[in-house]
Amino acid sequence: LQGEVCCYRILNHMDFVETIVAISTPPGAGGVGIIRLSGPRAIELGRTLFRTTPPLGSRTRRVEYGKVYARGCEVDTGLAWTFEKPHSYTGEDTVEISCHGSPLILEIVVNEAIKQGARLAEAGEFTRRAFLNGRLDLLQAEAVIDLIQAGSEAGLEDAYGLAGGRLSAEVRRLKAGLVRVLSRVEVGLDFSDEDIDATSQTEIVEDLRRTLVHAKQLADSFTAGLRRQQGYLVVLTGRPNVGKSTLLNNLLDEDRAIVTPIPGTTRDLVEGKTSWQGRPIRIVDTAGMRDSSDPIEREGINRACKVMAEADLVIVVGDASAGWSEEDERLVESHDSDRCLVVLNKMDLPRLSELDDLIHSTRTVVEISALTGSGKDLLIQKILDMLPYDHTANGMVLTRQRHQDCISRMVNHAETAFEMIGAGEPDECIAVELQDGLVSLGELLGEDVGDDL
Ligand code: GDP
Repeated sequence: LQGEVCCYRILNHMDFVETIVAISTPPGAGGVGIIRLSGPRAIELGRTLFRTTPPLGSRTRRVEYGKVYARGCEVDTGLAWTFEKPHSYTGEDTVEISCHGSPLILEIVVNEAIKQGARLAEAGEFTRRAFLNGRLDLLQAEAVIDLIQAGSEAGLEDAYGLAGGRLSAEVRRLKAGLVRVLSRVEVGLDFSDEDIDATSQTEIVEDLRRTLVHAKQLADSFTAGLRRQQGYLVVLTGRPNVGKSTLLNNLLDEDRAIVTPIPGTTRDLVEGKTSWQGRPIRIVDTAGMRDSSDPIEREGINRACKVMAEADLVIVVGDASAGWSEEDERLVESHDSDRCLVVLNKMDLPRLSELDDLIHSTRTVVEISALTGSGKDLLIQKILDMLPYDHTANGMVLTRQRHQDCISRMVNHAETAFEMIGAGEPDECIAVELQDGLVSLGELLGEDVGDDL
């Protein structure tokens, strides 16, 4: 298996003729800007852009202090360092020049590099080269963008685990498990006149069963991965004017939805994102639920029903100063109690005593005032407590549909092989299923993918 991986990497090593250049730190991100060059002429170009003694590249992986040159004159002072191929991110000769983060300086230096023969890198091209040169597998390469775009600590943790190769290592373990089973089945094919003894048969079955358990855990982690990346969906519903939009704004700490005393203002879905205790949350405010003849409002109510069906948690908001109506009750009853939270808003106003029956019921009820913010912390904690548990596979999650498709195909093939062994089917057929399972895992790692991907 190791041989196979190495072979793939050697075959895939690309000799790119172009040297690419890009600003790694976007201007405005802080006081420092980094210009990165990668390719066969990176060190040569780096020396014309950055002057130091001894010349850049004489001592690799050392930070040098020097002067940045462009248009034939000194434009800045800064630091630079080099990596010789294949010991760099891209697997090519690489130079990084760190100078002051002025957009103008960075632009002048990048233009100089282009004048000297470099080409502006396309988005993601450094990572693409790293993948094609075998420095990263496809799972790791995909994770780089997730790492950059992570909107929550949980998303960041997942992306970091992926980029660092934790998931890749798990997938390689699954591959090794299938290879072990396949090799034993193939022994049966090559030496068909020698019977495989019963102990060996039990071991094959047990080995395959263990691999399947791990693969299924990974497949199941996709829902958690998606939630951790895109956010848990929390939907606010309730009659018009109970304070849903005020609550949305309060929970997001921003002025997202329009708040008015006129019922029926929110017609479309209004969505905002936040992160609580490292968990990403999407909160959606919906049109107030009531019978309406207005076609726009009716469409808004339809959309509200759709998004509630997908929600991880529905919050039914009631107005404590107006009492608890049959409509409120109907709304609560239309959702499973374990994914429905009742919020009594406007507690700053005199409350009606009939509410006590509701509060003493078994439902989870939180009292707040969206206007003053009182009860907000308790509400956030309740929401977090009620969100579904993340089913990770030993802390790892799948984050893309592609991952899920590959693992599901592998599970299907391995399950079929498992059943075939039990039914005493011919070894040739079992081997085909196991090989197909291996191909799916290879696709997941990007060892065997088409040019398009
Ligand atoms: P929605 O139709 O359910 O989205 O309700 P809004 O958020 O638009 O609020 C309707 C009215 O109730 C507005 O005039 C808000 O200022 C008011 N309101 C919302 N929350 C509270 C609250 O906690 N206390 C009081 N006193 N008024 C509130």
